Amino acid sequence: MPTWNDIRADFPILHQQVNGHPLVYLDNGATTQKPRAVIDALVKYYERDNSNVHRGLHALSMRATDAYEGARTRVAKFINAADPAEIIFTRGTTESINVVARSWAHAHLRPGDVVLTTEMEHHSNLVPWQQAAKASGATLKYVPIVGTNAEGGLDLAALDTLLTPQVKLFAFTHISNTLGTINPAAELCRRARAVGAVTVIDAAQSIGHQPLDVQAIGCDFLAFSGHKMAGPTGIGVLYGRRALLDTLAPDETGGGMVVNVTYAGATWKPAPERFEAGTPNVADAIGLGVACDYLDSLDRVAIEKHDGDLARLAYEKLSTLPNIRVLGPTGARGGLVSFAFPDVHAHDVVTFADEDGVALRGGHHCNQPLMRKLGLTSTTRASFYVYNTAEEIDILVASMRRTLKFFRG
Ligand code: PLP
Repeated sequence: MPTWNDIRADFPILHQQVNGHPLVYLDNGATTQKPRAVIDALVKYYERDNSNVHRGLHALSMRATDAYEGARTRVAKFINAADPAEIIFTRGTTESINVVARSWAHAHLRPGDVVLTTEMEHHSNLVPWQQAAKASGATLKYVPIVGTNAEGGLDLAALDTLLTPQVKLFAFTHISNTLGTINPAAELCRRARAVGAVTVIDAAQSIGHQPLDVQAIGCDFLAFSGHKMAGPTGIGVLYGRRALLDTLAPDETGGGMVVNVTYAGATWKPAPERFEAGTPNVADAIGLGVACDYLDSLDRVAIEKHDGDLARLAYEKLSTLPNIRVLGPTGARGGLVSFAFPDVHAHDVVTFADEDGVALRGGHHCNQPLMRKLGLTSTTRASFYVYNTAEEIDILVASMRRTLKFFRG
């Protein structure tokens, strides 16, 4: 395992000044930076192999097809899927969840059914279920959060009453993008399975930060984005259990996903092709496969500890600032921390931090209902990755002190 400083050297973008200061990139919850290996893989693909996949019989097309399908196999191994056919390439978490909401929900939801989700979901794992419930006449219910700062996580006791046989689908986030809460994914799936509900996990904030084993977790569907795990933008994954995928109608139709087309109709290939109509994002899928290699070379258990330790350190140090509200768990948390000052807007905090070379995110983080529930309109979020250091947290806290001095005098 390389040292954390060696790891920093792998990311070319980090070696720059912003507003006269070395860049401190703490916006990894939004997107992570890319290591040289991923950037090189994209360049190599476009310089040597670029071609359309599956339908070509020439050398470049065969190379591109092998690399694309190789990436699928690599991603399957990364999450311990039983079969590469369970990996559908999408644009990202949002599209992956929408595929389930349209394909699965369309076929299975009826009036009187319940879709269960939680009060801490990103809009990407909330609005598609609102739409699916509206279209089918199903009811959407929410597992509540506990505590004025949601420090208690999900109310697991409430699950006893919420998880009834009417629940057909339970969709929840693995790690909250605003709170940093780590939900007990395997337990939630086990309890959902006991009432016959299908499970969908939003793994956008966990996939790049810890080992993830879909068979051990026991989920039916799992969604994530390449760009949040050191991979390219525009590529993501929907994992689906094979037995379920083969029962679903395609979400989109067109070239590449059909067996036979006549003027009267068409028949579908099995998964994954059934869900990948049109020319796929070949280059970025290959880049995602290389990102899997890169993260495994660092040791994902070590990454989990590193990012979690930094987030806890940031939680402790930020908590010493006067009149600050820090959200989420007081103990173990994912690699991020959100906070709010009652008298300074998050956009001002982020703008001041940028003057110090610190990249943060301020706003509702696509969590508007959660913000309202907590009596907030916005928070500032610092989110960490493999290249961040404890010194950068000191720079963050110093920047916050400067901001507070300006606004509070
Ligand atoms: N879910 C969570 C928890 C997220 O943090 C994000 C992105 O911030 C998403 C879903 C949506 O991911 P994408 O925009 O890559 O589709």
